[in-house]
Amino acid sequence: MAIVVQKYGGTSVGDVDRMKRVADRVARTHRAGNQVVVVVSAMGKTTDGLVTMAQRISERPPERELDILLTSGERISMSLLAMALHDREVPAKSFTGSQAGIITDAVHGRARIVDITPGRVQDALDQGNVVIVAGFQGVSQDTKDITTLGRGGSDTTAVALAAALKADVCEIYTDVDGVFTADPRIVTTAEKISYVSYEEMLEMAAQGAKVLQVRSVEFGRNHNVRIHVRSSFSFSDGTWVGPEEDSVEDAIISGVAHDTSEAKLTIQQVPDRPGVASRLFSALADDNINIDMIVQNVSADGRTDISFTLPRGDCDKARAVLDPLCHEIGAVGVRVDNDIGKVSLVGAGMKTHPGVAAKMFGALSAAGVNIEMISTSTIRVSVVVAGDQVETAVQAVHAAFGLGADGLPEVAE
Ligand code: ADP
Ligand code: ASP
Ligand code: MG
Repeated sequence: MAIVVQKYGGTSVGDVDRMKRVADRVARTHRAGNQVVVVVSAMGKTTDGLVTMAQRISERPPERELDILLTSGERISMSLLAMALHDREVPAKSFTGSQAGIITDAVHGRARIVDITPGRVQDALDQGNVVIVAGFQGVSQDTKDITTLGRGGSDTTAVALAAALKADVCEIYTDVDGVFTADPRIVTTAEKISYVSYEEMLEMAAQGAKVLQVRSVEFGRNHNVRIHVRSSFSFSDGTWVGPEEDSVEDAIISGVAHDTSEAKLTIQQVPDRPGVASRLFSALADDNINIDMIVQNVSADGRTDISFTLPRGDCDKARAVLDPLCHEIGAVGVRVDNDIGKVSLVGAGMKTHPGVAAKMFGALSAAGVNIEMISTSTIRVSVVVAGDQVETAVQAVHAAFGLGADGLPEVAE
């Protein structure tokens, strides 16, 4: 008997009718003789609604209480789906993340899974049930408090459970047909990729392609889970994510990702002497602030500007850390630019093909887009641009590399 893990995202369970359709699909997979574990997200925009409600009640909601609140969205979905399955005469049991043995660290809002003890899930499966697990949540090993895994975290619940249960496949059902060469909502010519390696998917997800949460891909790679991203609104094949050696295609570039959730912070006129950068960034790290790109300018008169990007929501926290430090080290101050976006080109073929960055910068320049920061990895080139130029930049880069339908020859009149 195969073990299949299926994860349904917010849009896929967005209302009662869609929930019933999900129940039909799960029942079908169960009747085909599989052991089925279903991970559900909160219905539609429930999580956003809960966040807004918390913010309206309190300026700084305690993280512990916020996490308990947010996990309720997934609990609504899991119980409703269990009811729909019972109606279809499919035995089903729902479990919270904690009941399913999703054990995390104690970092509220973006907890990491540290262990999975799926005893109750396995027992319920062995008794012939479809098992439904609330996504996006776990319980802290140390504090025993309920935690959430960061936005989009139900993907990680699903892949982690698939790894722990040694599932044959982890199906991620969403509102698009798979992973595309760019966000199909921004690039109309983007096309579905049939196979993408863990490494490339990791880069795409880390750079803003929110179709999979980054940590779910990390789990997939570390435990060799075959991930199939596909639409809950059709039965067509989606995108397979797996090891690089299984890829049959030989594309140089996989796709373009963008991220508009970051801000750029510049520390002005930092004294250019050893140990200063270390002090600044250690202080930020001690406060759990994640830094992304860093650029230090050439110094003039013994002083230099240091700019870096970070999640926009962490800006106030970063300022609270940096303002007093600037004073101490003799820097002039901190400037925040909220109106930026990051555009990234990802592809394993970059390792062996020179000139990719040059071609990308050329496409941006031809489209009139100014580059503010640059960073690279072996399979990625990223640039920071003005917020209102992100879409133009994504489209220009997508076209320049002939991705998706942009790569098809023009039809003669
Ligand atoms: P779910 O609620 O099912 O988890 P998400 O909204 O988290 O769905 O992720 C799906 C969305 O990701 C799509 O609707 C699409 O707009 C966006 N997206 C961004 N980049 C890509 C990409 N390269 N391929 C597919 N979807 C993408
Ligand atoms: N409901 C959570 C969110 O909106 C988790 C998820 O959907 O994966 O982020
Ligand atoms: Mg998601």
